[in-house]
Amino acid sequence: MIKVVKFGGSSLASAEQFRKVADIIKSDSDRRFVVPSAPGKRFSDDTKVTDMLYECYRAASKGQEYAHLMEAIRKRYNEIITELGLEVSLDKEFEIIEACFVGKAGRDYAASRGEYLNGILLANYLGYEFIDAAEVVFFDDKGVFDAEKTNKVMSERLSGLSNAVIPGFYGSMPNDTIKTFSRGGSDITGSIVARAIKADLYENWTDASGVLVADPRIVHNPEVIHTITYKELRELAYMGFAVFHEDAIFPVRKEGIPINIRNTNHPEDAGTMIVESTSKKADYTVTGIAGKKGFTAVTIEKDMMNSEVGFCRKVLEVFEKCKISIEHMPSGVDTMSVIVQQAEFEAKEQEVLAGIHRNVSPDAIEIESDIALLAIVGRGMKSNRGTAGRIFSALAHAHINVKMIDQGSSELNIIVGVSEADFEKAIKAIYDIFVTVRL
Ligand code: ASP
Repeated sequence: MIKVVKFGGSSLASAEQFRKVADIIKSDSDRRFVVPSAPGKRFSDDTKVTDMLYECYRAASKGQEYAHLMEAIRKRYNEIITELGLEVSLDKEFEIIEACFVGKAGRDYAASRGEYLNGILLANYLGYEFIDAAEVVFFDDKGVFDAEKTNKVMSERLSGLSNAVIPGFYGSMPNDTIKTFSRGGSDITGSIVARAIKADLYENWTDASGVLVADPRIVHNPEVIHTITYKELRELAYMGFAVFHEDAIFPVRKEGIPINIRNTNHPEDAGTMIVESTSKKADYTVTGIAGKKGFTAVTIEKDMMNSEVGFCRKVLEVFEKCKISIEHMPSGVDTMSVIVQQAEFEAKEQEVLAGIHRNVSPDAIEIESDIALLAIVGRGMKSNRGTAGRIFSALAHAHINVKMIDQGSSELNIIVGVSEADFEKAIKAIYDIFVTVRL
């Protein structure tokens, strides 16, 4: 069995965390390929090394004083080296990094050094081979990740090895410059490595014991989801669940490799399994509840709109021209609503209204802002009757007015729109009915 293990920034923030990570890796000989992040926060108002690097690069590339910033970064690594008693020095690496910063090697290069240096230390500590991600992860000349070239080169490179450390977050462009994924992108590297080596499992170690049913800032002590499908997670991620980088699902999904989210500080917890599909029943009808604020509903009314061929297209064309993406589109006989992100809409509001008037001559247009959308997601909803009924009675009991309902055709999710003021109350009410009361 081969397991690829990725450790997030907080899992590798200090020597103490490095020890926990090594214990986890050494306790299972299947854990052969390791993808580290840069050192993250050691305490809540600490600064991540990645952010320190961005700041240091900004100063150095503008010709401002940066020595103290570079020194603070060097100190983070040197503390780990000293406390672990490693016989490795990063002095030469820091000389190169400094020269590249002054020579304006780019923000991405700067940020990538966090994972690069941490990878060198972790490989040294574990006694594993270090493989620079620049040699095995590729982007094309437009900066788009080149999945197939990466998969080919990486699988050839890793196939003869019994173990290795490959730093997360970055790769190289055809002109040899360094390019990073978006923030949190080490999750993607872990997934790419798992695909390349055809791993049996991709373990993603973080500081939470898995994906929670609801946001712990809203629901007190929510339950952990034991098993979730890729599709369910996509729906929840779209609505703001941030356990795992959204794009990290694609590489492993191609090979059907399950992902296991685990807690470095509580390795005894089983965490969450993310799988392609499962015959395992979800613990509750609803797998997860997520939501986001900041939406606007534009409702267009016109008698007999349903018989006017091309009506929807003409309305949507206006949004397209204004480059506003559409989130949802519930409709009635003589009305249709277009739900968009408020921040995108506000700047172009009058342009949109004029465009709709011109294109379809509506009887009325109504705009309602400050809407929150809730996604109630669960593979169990398809086979359980009355889920929608339970959701709406829970909301009615909590005196929450429902402004919009949209059930995905896959019956995997129900989207409910409420006013922003009711957002937290609505999440709690739905959590209670399905999880606390266990209906
Ligand atoms: N170090 C990078 C960040 O802070 C990437 C990662 O941790 O996944 O975003």
